Amino acid sequence: MPDNQIITPAIAEMPEGITGQGFFATSFDKAVGLARKNSLWPLPFATSCCGIEFMATMASHYDLARFGSERLSFSPRQSDLLMVMGTIAKKMGPVLREVYIQMAEPKWVIAVGACASSGGVFDTYSVLQGIDRIIPVDVYVPGCPPRPEQIIDGILKIQELVGNESLRRRNSEGYNDLMKQYHIE
Ligand code: SF4
Repeated sequence: MPDNQIITPAIAEMPEGITGQGFFATSFDKAVGLARKNSLWPLPFATSCCGIEFMATMASHYDLARFGSERLSFSPRQSDLLMVMGTIAKKMGPVLREVYIQMAEPKWVIAVGACASSGGVFDTYSVLQGIDRIIPVDVYVPGCPPRPEQIIDGILKIQELVGNESLRRRNSEGYNDLMKQYHIE
């Protein structure tokens, strides 16, 4: 991207609904989805090089704040988007799992980069071959490391999921079954 290019701030898209003179009506699900997707609070779980790309994503040039996600949280109870960036050693697995469990519902997970998604080049006895072996993942961002544009693309995909998620999903049988697969009650 040329240095002199001005990045236009993202504007939240209006959900589907009915408009008329002086009014707009939509469903409750969509209104909640609109608020949630534009105010995601990420918890950056960064262990190695992919974390550096994330720092670039947060900095002024790429500026994740444009998507309502500038409020990072290192407290699991005050965040709803777990971003896992870097190699996760098997010894680190239980810590990551504990962080995930401590996050309040609704919560989403992005595996950023090859290591978090599949172990990457580290096909060794000590490295977890993908975080989805211990926690459910919503979006995978490829690359070693992924560029900030790819991380932003991952955030946009998460926003799409969040904006369209039914308010009942977290109480559904399907979701409970998913949690049971991971032995999370
Ligand atoms: S995917 Fe590549 S850049 Fe990212 S943590 Fe692994 S080795 Fe580092």
